[in-house]
Amino acid sequence: MTTNDSHQVSPVSISFTEELSEGIYLIGFKREFLFRAGQVIGIAMEEKGPRRLYSICSGELEEEIHILYKVVDEGFLTPQLSDLEIGNTIWITAPGGEFTGDKDPAVWIATGTGIAPFYSMFRSGLGENKTLLHGNRFLEQFNFYDEFQEALGQDYIRCCSADNDEEVYQGRITGYLEEQDALIPALKYYLCGSADMVVEARDILISKGIPFGNIISEIYF
Ligand SMILES: Cc1cc2nc3c(=O)[nH]c(=O)nc-3n(C[C@H](O)[C@H](O)[C@H](O)COP(=O)(O)OP(=O)(O)OC[C@H]3O[C@@H](n4cnc5c(N)ncnc54)[C@H](O)[C@@H]3O)c2cc1C
Repeated sequence: MTTNDSHQVSPVSISFTEELSEGIYLIGFKREFLFRAGQVIGIAMEEKGPRRLYSICSGELEEEIHILYKVVDEGFLTPQLSDLEIGNTIWITAPGGEFTGDKDPAVWIATGTGIAPFYSMFRSGLGENKTLLHGNRFLEQFNFYDEFQEALGQDYIRCCSADNDEEVYQGRITGYLEEQDALIPALKYYLCGSADMVVEARDILISKGIPFGNIISEIYF
């Protein structure tokens, strides 16, 4: 890909597709551009077709770009993405966005496919000194669980609202945050997921003394 214009699209050939759990897919294609972990690309089925934004879900130096997405049954794009086969073509924009990480200690907070930018940061060598809170309804939805668990240990906290398991916090991520008495104001708090979660979690963080400037958000709308 030669352009940095976010309005231009280029064709790529699908090299990988897998349904990770019900309705949650990972697709891949060969990486032909540079990006910063946490950035997004636009995806369309046709050159001039409607586009949607997706976080890149692979490390900055990996050979394939991966995209983690949830099928929205009534949606325009995601049902079509789930029908893709290896060798099919999609159209992508250049990467963009400022939701990028660094090596400083931080708390990463994600729900659902909002884990994607953090997995990209993790795979790009930014996982040290991080606490990761991940929220999902069901246990099977904790994508990349093994890798996060091995690398982060106690600093990887799964909040599961519908399934029960002794290794997870039973409830929503916002419930977990409400219960914390000792959040560190000097840390940065990265939030990624639905608007509801991001707004609610941000309000809780502010009520617990986290400065607004230390809260960095990416809303999936
Ligand atoms: C910066 C950014 C990054 C994003 N990254 C990702 C990502 O990495 N993975 C990912 O899966 N999505 C991501 N999204 C959301 C994505 O862009 C699409 O909105 C989503 O995939 C739905 O597209 P669609 O064409 O299938 O549905 P649409 O035709 O756009 O939507 C159909 C209907 O479904 C509703 N809807 C949209 N999304 C959801 C949802 N998640 N759950 C329930 N209802 C919904 C809409 O409000 C609408 O009423 C991101 C969005 C933004 C803004």
